[in-house]
Amino acid sequence: MHSKTLADIARGLENKEFSSVEITENYLQRIKQFDPEINSFITTTADQALAQAKQADKKRAENNATLLSGVPIAHKDIFCTEGVKTSCASKMLDNFISPYNATVIEKCESAGLVMLGKTNMDEFAMGSSNETSYYGPVKNPHNSNCVPGGSSGGSAAAVAAGLAPAATGTDTGGSIRQPAAFCGITGLKPTYGRISRWGMIAFASSLDQAGPMTQNAEDAALLMNVMSGFDPKDSTSSEKPTEDYTANLNASLQGKKIGLPKQFFTQGLNADIEQSVRDALSVYEKLGATLVEIDLPNADLATPAYYVIAPAECSSNLSRFDGVRFGHRCENPVDLEDLYKRSRAEGFGEEVKRRILIGTYVLSAGFYDAYYLQAQKARRLIKDDYLKAFEQVDIIAGPTTPSTAFALNNQHKDPVTMYLNDIYTIAVNLAGLPALSIPCGISNDMPVGLQLIGNYFAESELLNAGHQFQQNTDWHKQALAKSMR
Ligand code: GLN
Repeated sequence: MHSKTLADIARGLENKEFSSVEITENYLQRIKQFDPEINSFITTTADQALAQAKQADKKRAENNATLLSGVPIAHKDIFCTEGVKTSCASKMLDNFISPYNATVIEKCESAGLVMLGKTNMDEFAMGSSNETSYYGPVKNPHNSNCVPGGSSGGSAAAVAAGLAPAATGTDTGGSIRQPAAFCGITGLKPTYGRISRWGMIAFASSLDQAGPMTQNAEDAALLMNVMSGFDPKDSTSSEKPTEDYTANLNASLQGKKIGLPKQFFTQGLNADIEQSVRDALSVYEKLGATLVEIDLPNADLATPAYYVIAPAECSSNLSRFDGVRFGHRCENPVDLEDLYKRSRAEGFGEEVKRRILIGTYVLSAGFYDAYYLQAQKARRLIKDDYLKAFEQVDIIAGPTTPSTAFALNNQHKDPVTMYLNDIYTIAVNLAGLPALSIPCGISNDMPVGLQLIGNYFAESELLNAGHQFQQNTDWHKQALAKSMR
């Protein structure tokens, strides 16, 4: 029962093979049984889930259900959920019960999806290994000595272990795609502005974007139909009408041009990953696509530019956590300054503090021009490289990560090594483009991810390419078969 995709569950519910209450109970039971080891959930919402499931069953009995009514899902604990703890995996928000729902949550509820709970993540989404969570690290379901990736590691691990059929995630520099690659699932980071950020706790607002984390591209399309769309509450959300993301899944790839950035296939790339990616590319050739080498001359600037811009924005966004309005407050402050200082010193973890310090530094008078302004210029160069490339090709392909999932407690102590995990994913956020990660191989028992990057609002094209690959290979199934308990 627990290896069913969203599409399978929707069909099963429609054909009355099982009820929403039954399938929801099944997942809740599995979370109880397996999550003490994996630690993919911070909060489970069993009572609420069963009430939502009952409601969905009633609607279906009245012939009043929509496609995904009664289908369970897990949400990253970065989305505000009314009446339910929303912690962002920080001690700062350990006691925060949100008074309202994020737009993503609202949309999922309107579609009838049943929330199983809130998933673990890096604190305030800062990290690539889930080790910065206040609630402890998540274990990779493929190997419990390895990290699941981050920051949406709880969502990725829950889907890979069959504790939820799908989950939501957010991606500021790779946080959907990198954990999807490490756990052997499918993750889509949509175009900036395609999904509302309202009620999604802000890390770096010009980069943050929510997206689906699923077992395959078809399910990602189903969730995109639910999650995307203009939201008057988010001034950066796009007014461009959404589309039916499933409509194009079966289109032919004949004649598509796939660009391979020469900067992605260099010495830093693990040889097995390169082989898996090249094998995947030859599948695309068989499906009628042609491969073209392309140049992204400023690719090297992406990581340094990101680690100026993201901390700068985070230092501003996180100033709201001051011990007064939200979350943690220190005991017996002697005055206001003491209250601010101790509440923040106690509430934030080490990585979050590091980012706030860097961000404050690069924005300060005297350093702004040298760092922040330079980084913004680099960002423009990176975006222009991609726009130029898309004059030549339809999709850009390469690895999602330079290695497979690494061991727990390994890179944790060296922030720069950790930051280098994002070399293939970060430029996409700086440019605001959509990108998909799909499983494309297994190396030393750990899954390998292929990244497909599209032009603005080309989500359908990416999902089509992902689906066609998954119709012609079974890496996504092999990866899941290994990780599900
Ligand atoms: N790993 C990156 C970081 O630590 C990206 C995180 C994210 O996408 N939220 O900032």
